[in-house]
Amino acid sequence: MVNLGILALAIHGRPGFIPTLILLYCAVECEYHEEVIVHNPYMGRLFALQIGDNREMETKQLVRLFSQALPADSIISEKTSLRVYESDGLSAYRQPPRLVVLPESIIEIQAVMAICQSHAIPIVSRGAGTSLSGGALPHKDGIVLSLARMNQMLELDVPNRTATVQPGMRNLAISESVEEHGLYYAPDPSSQIACTIGGNVAENAGGVHCLKYGLTLHNILGLQVATMEGDLIDIGGNSLDAPGFDLLSLMVGSEGMLGIVVEVTVRLLPVPTCAKVIMGIFDSVVKAGDSVAAIIGNGIIPAGIEMMDNPAIRAAEDFVNAGYPVEAEAMLLCELDGTVQEVDEQIDQVEILFADNGAVDTRVAKDEEERALFWSGRKAAFPAIGRLSPDYYCIDGTIPRRSLGHVLTKINQLSAQYQLRVANVFHAGDGNLHPLILYDANVPGELEKTEELGSRILQLCIEVGGTITGEHGVGVEKIGEMCIQFSDDEREQFHGIRRCFDPKSLLNPGKAIPTLARCAEHNAMHVHRGEVPFPELERF
Ligand SMILES: Cc1cc2nc3c(=O)[nH]c(=O)nc-3n(C[C@H](O)[C@H](O)[C@H](O)COP(=O)(O)OP(=O)(O)OC[C@H]3O[C@@H](n4cnc5c(N)ncnc54)[C@H](O)[C@@H]3O)c2cc1C
Repeated sequence: MVNLGILALAIHGRPGFIPTLILLYCAVECEYHEEVIVHNPYMGRLFALQIGDNREMETKQLVRLFSQALPADSIISEKTSLRVYESDGLSAYRQPPRLVVLPESIIEIQAVMAICQSHAIPIVSRGAGTSLSGGALPHKDGIVLSLARMNQMLELDVPNRTATVQPGMRNLAISESVEEHGLYYAPDPSSQIACTIGGNVAENAGGVHCLKYGLTLHNILGLQVATMEGDLIDIGGNSLDAPGFDLLSLMVGSEGMLGIVVEVTVRLLPVPTCAKVIMGIFDSVVKAGDSVAAIIGNGIIPAGIEMMDNPAIRAAEDFVNAGYPVEAEAMLLCELDGTVQEVDEQIDQVEILFADNGAVDTRVAKDEEERALFWSGRKAAFPAIGRLSPDYYCIDGTIPRRSLGHVLTKINQLSAQYQLRVANVFHAGDGNLHPLILYDANVPGELEKTEELGSRILQLCIEVGGTITGEHGVGVEKIGEMCIQFSDDEREQFHGIRRCFDPKSLLNPGKAIPTLARCAEHNAMHVHRGEVPFPELERF
């Protein structure tokens, strides 16, 4: 049945949040057999979209369908423009979406979701597309919902040290916006200049300062989430505890599979009065790893401890001339912050611990300029390593700190066995490894060999009691390793939770939680308490 209609709506926004809107909707040609009601808790029932079920639609029809919810310049359908969205930071995987939508308001997001729910159209939400696990990789039959245009701070509450922001606001932009009040947002992924707070929430992103100040989860107080039905739910709040189940913990790190984050209330911290950085130089990765365990074991919680091995030190030094010791096998950068007295005392303690654990030299940055220089090499380490080979693959796993030396030695052995160079640069204080495997995707079979080596490294993390992800999420990259980390029952529980929010599995389908069939295909086994069944058998 074909129908044409005009639906005029006067929608009054949440005071101070959404401006009063008058929307003119044109219900376009489509088969009317279902009505979708779009709700908003502050406004009640908003409008009804009459849309049909047509999974095999041509792009033109799809555009018309989404034109019910969005202006024309908020829909991208042209093939070359879609290529911009075909991958994220894990560029080995590419898949153009059928369409990209760029909503500018929560109401538009709700309407988009209602359409997708009705037509069983998969949705992949996207912040800045910096995910390193393929979290924002499009689905071949689906749309990408970009939050890029929703990038404003909505409310700043200085006395309570909180800010409510839109999901597309860049991580660093939050700190920049509150700098004049002596505040900042602590989690600082190395990608913070580009990545968005919505993407950080979805991945539970971490960074250099998360050792002391916690991951994204520990710095978020509340979320507003649009559900697959197009409803809005508020999770958490302005206080430390909220009644009911702790859905905030469930939502943070859920990789865009339970809903679309449309507003985030973040906790802000006062900028510390003093921060100093000390460099420890080592002739072995084991000694550097032991130093990290010793620092934490002695009750010192640095603002961050980062480790780089020789290939990473050399690459960074060539790139930014930070004065790094290019002959060293490993280097630690340890930052202490707090009052001047606290920092000075802890710098002395760390210097002694470095020496006790075999450091060949230590250097304390003498002023702010040198501190920035020390960090510049670490912050530029990924692009610096990117200059060493046509491609690199960043692995993200977490291990107990005491195993750092052992695991890094094993990674070196695996690197030799696979004849692929590996550079290590990572958040050592959290035991969060980032081995970067250097390869050339143009050499036939090298990508597959790289993935196999990556899988071996992650399996090693599990074997020493760690996990297959530290901060980059599972996405498509580590979905096979999920079969090793979790049992069938545990994975079925994840699927069950997911079905409560999204019964049709339309939100980021095929990511993060593998099906039983996929695990069988992957030929992977669950590791219980670090013990792999039949350890003598090779498995990837
Ligand atoms: C050079 C480099 C350095 C990096 N360093 C770090 C680091 O130190 N620490 C770290 O943790 N990560 C790091 N990353 C990875 C990446 O930056 C983070 O995972 C970041 O949180 C992704 O944010 P994004 O806005 O780019 O999200 P995207 O890449 O666009 O999306 C990531 C995931 O979030 C989902 N998503 C995005 N927005 C929403 C939303 N509003 N609602 C629901 N789901 C949503 C997507 O569907 C996808 O699953 C690094 C990446 C690069 C390229």
